[in-house]
Amino acid sequence: MSKRDYYEVLGISKGATQEEIKKAYRKNAIQYHPDKNPGDKEAESKFKEAAEAYEILSNADKRNRYDRYGHAGVGGAAGGGFGGGMSMEDIFENFGDVFGSAFGGSFGGFGGFGGFGNSRQRGRRVNKGSTLRVKVTLTLNDIAHGVNKKIKVNKYITCDTCGGNGAKDSASFSNCSTCHGSGQVTKVTSTFLGQMQTSSICHVCGGEGKIITNKCTKCHGEGMVKDSEVISLDIPAGVAEGMQLSVSGRGNAARRGGVNGDLIVVIHEEKHPDLIRDGNDLIYGLYLNLAEAAIGSTVEIPTVDGKVKIKIEPGTQPGKILRLRGKGLPEVNGYGKGDLLVNINVWVPKNLSKEEKKQVEQLAASENFKPQPSLDDKNLFQRMKGFFE
Ligand SMILES: [Zn+2]
Ligand SMILES: [Zn+2]
Repeated sequence: MSKRDYYEVLGISKGATQEEIKKAYRKNAIQYHPDKNPGDKEAESKFKEAAEAYEILSNADKRNRYDRYGHAGVGGAAGGGFGGGMSMEDIFENFGDVFGSAFGGSFGGFGGFGGFGNSRQRGRRVNKGSTLRVKVTLTLNDIAHGVNKKIKVNKYITCDTCGGNGAKDSASFSNCSTCHGSGQVTKVTSTFLGQMQTSSICHVCGGEGKIITNKCTKCHGEGMVKDSEVISLDIPAGVAEGMQLSVSGRGNAARRGGVNGDLIVVIHEEKHPDLIRDGNDLIYGLYLNLAEAAIGSTVEIPTVDGKVKIKIEPGTQPGKILRLRGKGLPEVNGYGKGDLLVNINVWVPKNLSKEEKKQVEQLAASENFKPQPSLDDKNLFQRMKGFFE
């Protein structure tokens, strides 16, 4: 069977940037993900094909060789290619972070890419590490632009002394005598329907089929030890309080060389001192003084991209809302942006000196200081009323 061109597999041009390659792979991985296509062999092979293309094209060195020599340049053991094909576990293990970000686009939508270790079991049980949950606190600025966070987590990691198998050395194993190495025990029971055969996991070896005769002294046979790890997380822009990001394979190590559990990152959003979030829109309450509102002016307001100047028209009434398009937060899926709504208030002085009182009284005597709301102003009041009902 001739192999398809890697660029063609991912649907990108030869000059694609790393970001485009990653994006294309993510798209393919989501489309052909086994959780979405249970039992579909074609989807599985497409999923693997995309992973293989990504493995080569995401590595500058391998990509260079592939560009010059084609598949021959990266094939076989020497090239570090997948050769006989990468297992699904390997794909999750190696590209877990890509999935993590892919998730950013659709958390809520998917339950998670985890749980995979269990569905791949072939006869023998595969241990899966437990799920690890961490909370990450983000500012509105982090959320506006997306951010890379390095967090230190306390977790179980694979024991480096025994490599995770829990044994002192390769001679420290013996076949489990209860299940004779199969990891399962079969029991025949009599029921009113006749003889029934049930099989269950061998409780002596825990389904591993072998027992350790001489345990690793560092992990005491567990294959994992408590430690900490610094994990780098690419958090996509547009996330919100309480959202959960699942990163496959970055949770706790499993007992005796199973697959790692998943890491669930829970987003905590820090309150901004000036801006209030409403979905993807942001709201800013702007106070003008009487002169600014009456004469008009240019004022500075905060945004998630720094301060910007906006123009205040002469005769601006409190309650007016200015909409700054696209100055809100991006959608978490990357399409579209919210707005910044500037809610205008006019500050009425609370304490006036004698002299000031006199001046204000003089001004108030003018015909121009008599309230003369236009129909628009009245409509504005009607709208505001609607807010409170
Ligand atoms: Zn060990
Ligand atoms: Zn056993």
